[in-house]
Amino acid sequence: MRYVSTRGLSPALSFSDAVATGLAPDGGLYLPETLPRFTAAELSRFAPLEYSALCFEFLRRFATDVPEAALRAMIDRSYATFSHRDIAPLVRLQEGLYVLELFHGPTLAFKDFALQLLGNLYEHQCRVRGERINVLGATSGDTGSAAIHGLLGKPGTAIFILYPEGRTSPLQERQMACTGADNVHALAIEGTFDDAQAIVKELFGDQDFRIRHRLSAVNSINLARVLAQCVYYLYAWLRLPEGIRSEAEFVVPTGNFGNVLAGWMLQRMGVPMHGFRVATNQNDILHRLFTTGEYRVAAVSPSLAPSMDIQIASNFERFLYYSVGQDGARVRTIMGQFKASGCYRFESWDQSTLAASRCTDAEIAGLIAHVHRTWGYVADPHTACGFKDLVVGRPSVVLATASPAKFPETLRTVLGFEPTHPSLERLKSRPLVKHLLPARTDAVRAFVQARAV
Ligand SMILES: *Cc1c(COP(=O)(O)O)cnc(C)c1O
Repeated sequence: MRYVSTRGLSPALSFSDAVATGLAPDGGLYLPETLPRFTAAELSRFAPLEYSALCFEFLRRFATDVPEAALRAMIDRSYATFSHRDIAPLVRLQEGLYVLELFHGPTLAFKDFALQLLGNLYEHQCRVRGERINVLGATSGDTGSAAIHGLLGKPGTAIFILYPEGRTSPLQERQMACTGADNVHALAIEGTFDDAQAIVKELFGDQDFRIRHRLSAVNSINLARVLAQCVYYLYAWLRLPEGIRSEAEFVVPTGNFGNVLAGWMLQRMGVPMHGFRVATNQNDILHRLFTTGEYRVAAVSPSLAPSMDIQIASNFERFLYYSVGQDGARVRTIMGQFKASGCYRFESWDQSTLAASRCTDAEIAGLIAHVHRTWGYVADPHTACGFKDLVVGRPSVVLATASPAKFPETLRTVLGFEPTHPSLERLKSRPLVKHLLPARTDAVRAFVQARAV
């Protein structure tokens, strides 16, 4: 299997090279040249498989340049860090209504599914190619901690995560700064998230520095992340009663569009289902797109579901590529127009493509209370968005993207108690090791230089 760029101007790569490259040189994102199609017979053969075995059956169609035994071992290692035996348990709330819990990984959010695997892929590449890798990124929350836990203690790798001092939640900071691993560096920047991001951008722009230290980005656009995420949709689909599978709607709390894109691609691989609903918070660029056909940036306003506070959904470009018939030139034109004006209007927009809903903070609080009252289920603020506008009579699977224990303040305000999780409790007794640095590129450059592998 070869991988091509959504913008059509970069040479096709193998799976391993596409994973190592991240963003394509033409500015596009990698996708498989063709998508496999799963037959009904194959799908019924998959039904009894446990999570890791299913993941292997799926990924071996894509990671065709990775020896199968190595791939299987990487997958087993990736999901051995999860605390639930089903990895992605499907919880039934009532007839036709399910929650797919994606928060049993080491950092208690769905990003662990992809970043545990990506960490093992990086480690494998370092070993096979005799290379080192230094991962550098800025985070305001979940992605940084999930990336750190993907690379924790892996030989040949180091990870440097910048975050704004005093502006992440105390738990999020502990997840990044209390790991005890030598190759993890939590850099608290005396500035804003934008300052941290600007520093990272400047360091990546320094070609000499980037190449010398083999810098790699923690990004939401790596091809391996999307493919790893397809697997839990398939796993959940296979666990639904057979009679409702083809009518099921997956409801996905959405920010960057990475999670829902994976499900949508799985549907294109021949897995029959009703479709998807994109559930946004008050930062509703995607809700507006799917209801009006207009894609327009707006200022981000901080919400109770912070991991969905985004301005531009970077993975949207992959969806666009399929929507315009895999025409790289069209994608270039549209992305160029979007970049220049902050807006793009689709001429003929099919509103039935994906359903969408949006949730204000007040609605999030109301839904957390409603879900708890009705089903005795505790949803985190991101997951709560998925319970808005459920279609009565349609089988629905709401994706639970984070553990409620990650948001104790919100849950206390709404429900009057704080959910806890043993892994977060353990963090409280661990020493916090962070490096406070001024918001200056030279200070971060010097730090990375001194600690890079
Ligand atoms: C990252 C994240 C999201 C948004 O996922 P996307 O793939 O960016 O759409 C939703 N919920 C939680 C808890 C997250 O960490």
